[in-house]
Formats: sequence, structure tokens, C-alpha cells
Amino acid sequence: MKTKNKGFNTKLIHAGAFEDEFGSATIPIYQTSTFKFKSAQHGADCFSGKSDGYIYTRIGNPTIRAFEQNIAELENGFDGIATSSGMGAISSVYMALLSAGSHIISSDAVYGPARGVLEQDFSRFNVEASFVNTSNTENILAALKPNTSVLYIETPANPTMEITDIVACAKIAKENNLVLVVDNTFCSPYLQKPLDMGADIVLHSITKFINGHADIVGGVIVTKDSVLYKKIRHSMVYMGCNMDPTQAFMVLRGVRTLALRIERAQENAMKIANFLQSHPKVNWIKYPGLTTHPQYELAKTQMKGFGSMMSFGLKGGYDAGKKLMDNVHLALLAVSLGGVETLIQHPASMTHAGVSKENKLAAGITDDLIRFSVGIEDVEDIIEDLKQGLSII
Ligand SMILES: *Cc1c(COP(=O)(O)O)cnc(C)c1O
Repeated sequence: MKTKNKGFNTKLIHAGAFEDEFGSATIPIYQTSTFKFKSAQHGADCFSGKSDGYIYTRIGNPTIRAFEQNIAELENGFDGIATSSGMGAISSVYMALLSAGSHIISSDAVYGPARGVLEQDFSRFNVEASFVNTSNTENILAALKPNTSVLYIETPANPTMEITDIVACAKIAKENNLVLVVDNTFCSPYLQKPLDMGADIVLHSITKFINGHADIVGGVIVTKDSVLYKKIRHSMVYMGCNMDPTQAFMVLRGVRTLALRIERAQENAMKIANFLQSHPKVNWIKYPGLTTHPQYELAKTQMKGFGSMMSFGLKGGYDAGKKLMDNVHLALLAVSLGGVETLIQHPASMTHAGVSKENKLAAGITDDLIRFSVGIEDVEDIIEDLKQGLSII
């Protein structure tokens, strides 16, 4: 079904779907590593690009293609590249865009390993990286060097919830000949469409909102044009960061309810943020939907809703936070986010443990920061759980 001019919910269900000979209502799992050619000539044509037949699953597979085309339509992009994980997506993009001697500017509060792989691995190949607070775009301008080629942002940032102005970054990127990459994991295309705002590449850990059920790990990249698409697909295929057909089947199932899940989760999140904000034991809370969030106005203009991620600190600091994490019973004490279940975790000792203490502090990842991913349970139950956990402190 052609879904190009259809609404977002229709795309969620139908974009990327193809008909098989049995009229299957869902996209089957093509659990095969390789594909039979019709003839030696057909095999040669598949390799030369004359035919678009499938060759080998690392290069392409029908179940995976269905997901790639689905997400490309959701993000209003040229095409999608599915990967084994969110880090597979990030690494493929870095590998495609960075060379020895080039420089990347990145948000300082990005997903921990997205920073770690630059600092610990790409640095060995003479790639330079600067990490700045991109929520103030002056910092980006100050970090520019003659060899800067990529601007990489994550908004809202993980876990500080700071918002970066995508339109302003696109302008800087255009004026300085940079490729703008946006990690859109925290929003999903339902809440934010970076390519529409001038970004060149958008990527996701689909482990989070897009799959939404905490049962697979995966990633995806969507580019605005064919040049970037070909470049990144090459690095994904050659580095072997491909998705597996079963992963693709799972995410095709998960993505269908993306809008419903996010609507429900962000409705819960708003109520929980209000509860936490007025609780006497809570020192601070960062949620883009609260007027106390420093970029509330910006969030309102570039996000369709405020999402279901928040961070907060307790008056008793880390010790109090630790006690809370050990005493909630409904929220799972686990990393990851964006699933149907509520999760609580401590970034400084968990997701961002690989970032040095001084870099964590510079990025605003304080020791008292607790990250909360709101699920779609009954909100009264989540609040009751927090209430009893806080009462023990
Ligand atoms: C989880 C996450 C990643 C990494 O994704 P994986 O699927 O775990 O490899 C990247 N960016 C953000 C914002 C994330 O939350």
C-alpha cells in the first residue's frame, strides 16, 4: 500500500509492507542467511546493481527492508538502514563520516558509549572530538575548527533532559559545511522529526520507544538523501552491524503501537512530574513539559509532546536516591527506556559509568541524578509506588 501522503498512524501500520504470494497480513520472518539466484546472470546482476534482488542477509533481507522503509517514511527521509543495535547505528555513522584528521562536535550529555567510542576508540585513528553543551549553540560555534565535519546532537539529552535547538544547529551545519546527525531515540518520529528541521541524518536505538517492549536490541539510521544513504549502508554492511530478520519482525510488531504508547506514557509522565515537583523530598526535577524546565518554550516548538523521560534529584542526594531505587516495587531498577514498563536507574553509576567523573560533572550528570522512564501502567499505581518509596527515606 502506498502511504506517502497518509497520516502518521496509517504509516505506522502500513508503511514498508509488501504483499507476498500467500497474502500474509504481516511481514513474514525471512529467516535465511542467503538467497538463491535464478541464474548465474541474475547473481551477477544482483552484485552489479542491475537487479535489486536479495543476495545475503548482512547486505539485505525482505523482513529488514520492510522495517527500513517503514521508519524512513515515519521520519520523512530518503531511506533507512537497520542495525544490530543503537550503537551499531552510531558506529556505522561515525565510520562513514569520520576520517583520520577530522573533528566531530557532540553534545556532552550524549548516550555514554556514543561518547566513549569516540574518546577511547576513534581517537586511536586520529579522529578528534569535542563535547560541549549544545543546548547553548554558542558553545558549538566556539568549538568549530577548520577540520570539523560532523555535528552530532541528542535532544532531549540523556540523562540531563536538556534540549538542543535542531533548527539552529541545522543553520550552523549548513553555514559550516557540517553533516548534522540527530539521535532521536528519546522522542521517536512521533514526537520529533529532525529531518524536517534540517538535519541530514537521524538515528535511533530502536531498543527503546520504537520497539517499545523491552524484548529486543536494535538500531536504525535514516538519511535525507541518497549520497549519505549509500555511504552509511556501505559502512554498516562492511562493518557487519546488520539487523537480524527476527529482530526486524519484532520491531515491525512493536512500532505499530508507537503513537498509542507514547500518548499514554507522556500523559502519565506529566502527572508524575507534577507529583515529584511538589514532593518535599525532591530537590529538583527536569521534565520538558514543566514550565520550570529551562527550555520549555523550545521543547514546545520542536516536539509534538513532551515524552515520558525525566530526571530528578532528591534532597538527600545519592544516598537517598539509592534508597528510593531499592524500595520501589513497580518501577523496575534497570537501564534502558521507552518500554511499556516503568524503569528507574542511576546514570552516574550505570549508563554513564564509562564517562570520567569530571566529564560527567561538566555534562551535568550529577551523582544525585535519577533517570525515570515512565511506562503505560495505571499512573495512580506508579505514583503510589514512588510515594511509598519516598516515605521510607
Ligand atoms: C540506548 C541508547 C543508545 C544505544 O542503543 P543500543 O540499542 O543500546 O545499542 C543510543 N542513544 C540513546 C539516546 C540511547 O538511549
